[in-house]
Amino acid sequence: MQPFLTTVLSGQTPLHPCGETTGLQWQWRDEGILHLEPKHRVQQALVLSCGIHGNETAPVEIVAQLVDKLLQGALALEVRLLVITGNPAALRAGKRYKEYDINRMFSGRWQRFQDCAEARRAWQLEQAVERFFMAGEAGESRWHLDLHTAIRGSWHPRFGVLPFTTRPWPEDFMHWLAAAGMEALVFHRAPAGTFAHFSSDKLAAASCTLELGKALPFGENDLSQFQATEQALVALLTQGTLPEVTQAPLRYRVAQQLTRESERFVLHMSADTLNFTAFPQGTLLAEEGDKQYFVRQAREYVLFPNPNVAPGLRAGLMLVEDNSHNSSLGML
Ligand SMILES: [Zn+2]
Repeated sequence: MQPFLTTVLSGQTPLHPCGETTGLQWQWRDEGILHLEPKHRVQQALVLSCGIHGNETAPVEIVAQLVDKLLQGALALEVRLLVITGNPAALRAGKRYKEYDINRMFSGRWQRFQDCAEARRAWQLEQAVERFFMAGEAGESRWHLDLHTAIRGSWHPRFGVLPFTTRPWPEDFMHWLAAAGMEALVFHRAPAGTFAHFSSDKLAAASCTLELGKALPFGENDLSQFQATEQALVALLTQGTLPEVTQAPLRYRVAQQLTRESERFVLHMSADTLNFTAFPQGTLLAEEGDKQYFVRQAREYVLFPNPNVAPGLRAGLMLVEDNSHNSSLGML
């Protein structure tokens, strides 16, 4: 197969949609969806997705390089792996999405949207992930890492957003996130339409949305900022040694969501407000007609502020620090 990224961006199906190397078999499942499987039995299944938002190119470059190394035999695969480029049409257009944001459409929410390419893609991705995990043997550990970059700058350049779940988080998963250089972990307290929530909720995977730096066009990414993340991915794929954890990630949980219901919604933050900027109690954050959003806790931190979303969608999350469970470095 030609380089993975070339294939994805071409929009073509590879001439030979399956093949093998000495160590693995691979199969092109659908546009931008590649299944790789070692020839021997393994204990771990991993869904590695990127490009759910088409303008978030750094993770696509990282994942594409890893796929090429696996197919060239430069890395020995030790997990069952499903690689997904989420929205190839948006990637080719260099846009976050074409009509609708796919990462609000999962867990069947695509049915609420009018029939469009992105609704069909969300459904297709759900099926691909379900089929992949269900094909594994009982007891196989299921992980899903959904790689993104944030729209704006951030006080924490690398962080993870964990979907709401009542299951305990596996220790090896949390350790991996720390080793991958996540400076912060944000815990959701309610279901959402994200890809990570879908795989966690419907397929009991340990799932995380990873935010790696700021969205930039192909070729402009400084991948050196993501060295620890890349090393941790290599270690996961090859079941090798993880990079050392240099800093335990700070923990936050979602305290409230700012939702834009109509054209009247006004967000009282400047356009260059960084993610994790703190606001003191009583600050007016946003308003919409009679409804006003204030900081309720002593201090809340903003995440993903974006007043330009479609009505009914999230215009920002407010977080509080939640370091009650933070283990010391030695215990990670
Ligand atoms: Zn994204």
